[in-house]
Amino acid sequence: MRKEDYKIKVLVTGGAGYIGSHMVRMLIEHKNSVVVLDDLSTGFQKSVLGANIVIGSLCDKEFLDSVFAANEFDVVMHFAGASLVSESVINPAKYYSNNLIGTINLLNALNKFEISNLVFSSSASVFGIPNYLPIDERHVQAPINPYGRSKSIIESILNDYSIAYGIRSVSLRYFNAAGASLDGKIGELHDPETHLIPLVLQAAKHDQEFIIFGDDYDTADGTCIRDYIHVLDICDAHLLSANYLISGGETCSYNLGNGNGYSTKQIVKVAEAVVRKKIKINIGPRRHGDPPVLISNSNKIKNDLAWVPKFFNIEDIINHAWAWEINSRF
Ligand code: UDP
Repeated sequence: MRKEDYKIKVLVTGGAGYIGSHMVRMLIEHKNSVVVLDDLSTGFQKSVLGANIVIGSLCDKEFLDSVFAANEFDVVMHFAGASLVSESVINPAKYYSNNLIGTINLLNALNKFEISNLVFSSSASVFGIPNYLPIDERHVQAPINPYGRSKSIIESILNDYSIAYGIRSVSLRYFNAAGASLDGKIGELHDPETHLIPLVLQAAKHDQEFIIFGDDYDTADGTCIRDYIHVLDICDAHLLSANYLISGGETCSYNLGNGNGYSTKQIVKVAEAVVRKKIKINIGPRRHGDPPVLISNSNKIKNDLAWVPKFFNIEDIINHAWAWEINSRF
């Protein structure tokens, strides 16, 4: 393919991570030109086989300059960053250094190289404990852990950079990302794994016990409720956001979920139906920093960008995760 046939030129930071690697694949499938920037601290090179990858850190300004000097980009999709709530409570220095300094360096490079479009991976954790449900974009931001605070501060920085330097951005506040590619070749991969759906499926696969973090929350069955959204629907939202920015769209933020809440116990039940066996569970203590219920109102992105989630069915989401878990986990 000739260079001019590519649709858009995209830098994907954190492109070797869980959501980033699905994004890279989707961009390539849609015949866009992609450069992956990743320090491989939590991502895996094997998740982006065949993609153009530069390995280095956003905290290294000279490296960043060299990437922007060597390539032209229409838009940057910024997935890179540390993303574990519990780790952020124990090690806030890591979260403020990686997430804040890394993002500020990236924004300064965008400014220097006159790139004005950025799609940012924000999070439902910017809201903290919700005052009302489902959570829309007008809900107050009151994060309850350093991870959520780092995302909320970055959203404020993005607004300031938009006003001062004209770098326009879309912040996508994901609720709970889940699922895998439809061919089961890439999927959720963290080391160590801390997320609900892969841990439940791994417990099923290895006949191990799965520990539920607390069953004394103020919910119908006492376990936490979350809004699980398919990784491919998140990637669709990124593509729509990139096109919106390229056609001159203003800086904004969107909540991204399906609007359906499932308790941890309900997820275990659905997983049992998918894997066709009983999963051993035990009840452990609550995990620090877990809000009882998080459910998104995503009407704004549906109305503004015509985002339509394709895989909102929780059984489909867990089915795709299971196919990845049993067939192709490399
Ligand atoms: N969870 C659990 N046991 C685990 C991992 C997660 O009970 O081993 C619960 C967790 O307390 C939360 C939900 O599953 O209520 C989703 O957690 P996850 O870490 O997947 O995502 P988060 O909501 O923290 O972004």
